Amino acid sequence: MDPFTLQLPKSRLPEVGTNIFSIMTALAQKYGAINLAQGFPDFPPDEDLIGYAMEALQGNGNQYAPMSGYPDLKHQIALLTETLYGYKPDPETDITITSGATEAITDAILALTSPGDEVILLEPCYDSYIPAIRLAGAIPIPVALNTDDYSVNWEAVQQAITAKTRFIIINSPHNPTGAAWTIKDIHKLRELVKHTHILILSDEVYEHICFLPEGHQSILKYPDLAERAIVVSSFGKTFHVTGWKVGYCIAPPNLTMEFRKVHQFVTFSTAHPLQQALAKKLQHQSNIQSLSGDFCHKRDFFLDQMKNSKFRPLPCNGTYFQLMSFADIPQFAEFPDTQVANILTEEFGVATIPVSVFYNSPIDNKVLRFCFAKKEETLERAAQRLCKI
Ligand code: PMP
Ligand code: GLN
Repeated sequence: MDPFTLQLPKSRLPEVGTNIFSIMTALAQKYGAINLAQGFPDFPPDEDLIGYAMEALQGNGNQYAPMSGYPDLKHQIALLTETLYGYKPDPETDITITSGATEAITDAILALTSPGDEVILLEPCYDSYIPAIRLAGAIPIPVALNTDDYSVNWEAVQQAITAKTRFIIINSPHNPTGAAWTIKDIHKLRELVKHTHILILSDEVYEHICFLPEGHQSILKYPDLAERAIVVSSFGKTFHVTGWKVGYCIAPPNLTMEFRKVHQFVTFSTAHPLQQALAKKLQHQSNIQSLSGDFCHKRDFFLDQMKNSKFRPLPCNGTYFQLMSFADIPQFAEFPDTQVANILTEEFGVATIPVSVFYNSPIDNKVLRFCFAKKEETLERAAQRLCKI
């Protein structure tokens, strides 16, 4: 018998398990529940987009795309960015297409932080940020959002800044809370980072789903912030194709150069036919202008269906997520949100996401996240079940 036993290396992410989206989707499937948990539409993308993808698959799109992205797609993104935010990135030096926003976020952190750097993030936050920071050897510095309306606690952010702060990660409209930044937040951020070397990683994947009258506050609208920002977006949310995993990053040339050094060795390039299809969609007819209105309508429809339920909705100014409090429901009020999410899935047939899991050290505000990017009939059926509680 060979006495040698292979020792596995120490986990780089010992605290990480299967993520909540996979867990709740699997649970929804097991119990045949309506899945309002993981954020994806249950309706199809536009037919023309599917047609463009088929054309690309039958044409010349089946080999590697250029490392930084399909040129026409980068060109279309530059035009769109200029139209919306008055800032025209150079497709050659400022735009990189990635395999989803998730890749862009991880690339940015790996490329631009060193071990020991601190990265401030506002909690609750999207689940990929902290693992990416840890993989880079950097230190996550979580700052909780105000619990009443999930606005930014700017005093707390200011106190979290040290000489080691490398990045502040921001996300508006915000997953999981549906909060959205106002111009006042932008001014606060400007004040805080002025005369510092802090970079901003701005996750704007819901940029086209904002319900505030003044619209989405992209960092790209503010040159003093844009010069130090990596702005990340995703076509998954915009064109109802979350499974395509095509995202992008806009950043000044010096930051993009470092970003691409990581991107080229993480994926090298992103699905070529899908990039070709998205370029055509942007060039011809895109649904971007009507997206906020469409999702606002869905939010209102869902809230109307839920008006006789015991859940209490919180304000939602963007994204396709609605938070609901169960604090006033006696049969649930004493349970942790994770348990309530399980009970709703298993016994009432509706899967949701417990918000406490989006905190580094879980804070349970007794709220669940409901995805309303669904057909009206799906929302209606889910609400019927929830109103029985
Ligand atoms: N950031 C946020 C806030 C998200 O909600 C998501 C995904 N839904 C992502 C990033 C990742 O986007 P992608 O699916 O394009 O990787
Ligand atoms: N972004 C989606 C959500 O928040 C899911 C992403 C994922 O499944 N990793 O639900």
